[in-house]
Amino acid sequence: MDKKKIYLSLSQQNGFENEYIQKALEVNWITTGGPNVEEFECKLEKYYEEESFVTALNSGTSAIHLALILIGVKAGDEVICQSMTFSASANPVLYQGAIPIFVDSEAETWNICPQNLEIAIKDRIKKGKKPKAIIAVHLYGVPYKVDEVHAIADKYEIPVIEDSAEALGSCYKGKKCGSFGNFGILSFNGNKIITTSSGGALISSSKEAKERAVFFATQSRDNAVHYQHSEIGYNYRMSNICAGIGLGQIKSLHTNIESKVINHNFYKTIFNSIRNVELFEVLNEDYFSNYWLNAILVEPDFSNSISSESLRLAFEKENIESRPLWKPMHLQPIFEKHPYYGGDIAKDLFEKGLCLPSGSNLTCEDKEKIKKVILDFFKL
Ligand SMILES: *Cc1c(COP(=O)(O)O)cnc(C)c1O
Repeated sequence: MDKKKIYLSLSQQNGFENEYIQKALEVNWITTGGPNVEEFECKLEKYYEEESFVTALNSGTSAIHLALILIGVKAGDEVICQSMTFSASANPVLYQGAIPIFVDSEAETWNICPQNLEIAIKDRIKKGKKPKAIIAVHLYGVPYKVDEVHAIADKYEIPVIEDSAEALGSCYKGKKCGSFGNFGILSFNGNKIITTSSGGALISSSKEAKERAVFFATQSRDNAVHYQHSEIGYNYRMSNICAGIGLGQIKSLHTNIESKVINHNFYKTIFNSIRNVELFEVLNEDYFSNYWLNAILVEPDFSNSISSESLRLAFEKENIESRPLWKPMHLQPIFEKHPYYGGDIAKDLFEKGLCLPSGSNLTCEDKEKIKKVILDFFKL
């Protein structure tokens, strides 16, 4: 195939990364921690303005794992988790030997449904165990129903881990995603809104929590001259080289988000006139999405010639990548034996949904190609 491939979302360098990587090499700090890591944390703490303490880690997954550890989740404990998400939200619950309890989405933000969340909490308490934590996700950059979800968490005094891996730059009522939970987590994986190649961060509201996070992330070394350990340790700290990439990347956060919003408006113009398609959008002005990935729901016709899968194949023919939404966790072989509360909203989203190319580096030419596939597909 000679057509240039158009990807779902690729990382984009801005040229500032080199200077920081070079600095790490010059001072010969090529291991974890170090000056770039501290500066990167500082930049993120400034970005979050209010009292937030950021721990830079080697992935978003390790950030979720450390949040569970800091909350005190142990083997046999129950943790509520949004079902409609990437498996990295739920896997760390299993690392702890804890039991994930999955909750359906609501149709407006596609995120954890407050009603089913409360039903789940009440039922788990009735069955004898109060959930130890709630993992809520801002899917594809769109904030979950923050007020409702946190009101329920507060009512039952259950800490919230806010999985903001896809939502750096998103806001709810003007407040930045990542700062609502008892712990917030970010991912700087290769395809996220900014990248450190691989990386993540844990956001907490106290210095002590950050110190504990660094302690666990660096093999839980006790205060001694020799290597002494009284607790299980992890190798989760971000490397000084990766943080250098992050320091370069963070300069482009705003322009990346601007491009993502422009991409979103491009899709909005196209899909406005297509009856079978609903573009995933924020509910109202309280919500601001970074539109990390644009997603649509395709209402199938009777013959099934129109469906999310046939549209995906039409894109594939033109060497354009599109992808089904995350398959809900309660439908995954590894998780399906765990309790689930809700109906078929997440399942329905999965069956009808498709993620579309949304890179911040999509060119006009790319967009023309994408548009042509869509218009031809719907015979417009
Ligand atoms: C990417 C992602 C993560 C995990 O981040 P990694 O840095 O890849 O470990 C967690 N949750 C969600 C929703 C994600 O999209």
